[in-house]
Amino acid sequence: MAYEIDKPEEQWRAELTPQEYHVLREAGTERAFTGEYTDTKTVGVYSCRACGAELFRSETKFESHCGWPSFYDPADSSAVELLEDRSHGMVRTEVRCARCGSHLGHVFSGEGYPTPTDQRYCINSISLRLSPEES
Ligand SMILES: [Zn+2]
Repeated sequence: MAYEIDKPEEQWRAELTPQEYHVLREAGTERAFTGEYTDTKTVGVYSCRACGAELFRSETKFESHCGWPSFYDPADSSAVELLEDRSHGMVRTEVRCARCGSHLGHVFSGEGYPTPTDQRYCINSISLRLSPEES
């Protein structure tokens, strides 16, 4: 499948830090409770760190206590792409940026969080860039 932003892996490797590259392009996972946005409550927009596409808004961020930034809904459902992920002996739903195909995290449903969607988009901080809103 072709993405709107389609760069050779060497170019991504040159543009991203090794840690960013590992998560975004190799579907890595940052260690729980280490990401810079885990507990952030700043109002603003979270964009894809690889291509800058708007992905999530702070209004849908909630405290899941899972160790990663958690959102109950993307800013726009077409901003993310969902794929079945059968790695590590589990069936999970991978979340990717729909614009550049970079790995963001996973989405889980029906866990009982008191949110409007009962979904948890469990996203690596390093996949995101927060732009605080002017107030
Ligand atoms: Zn992207």
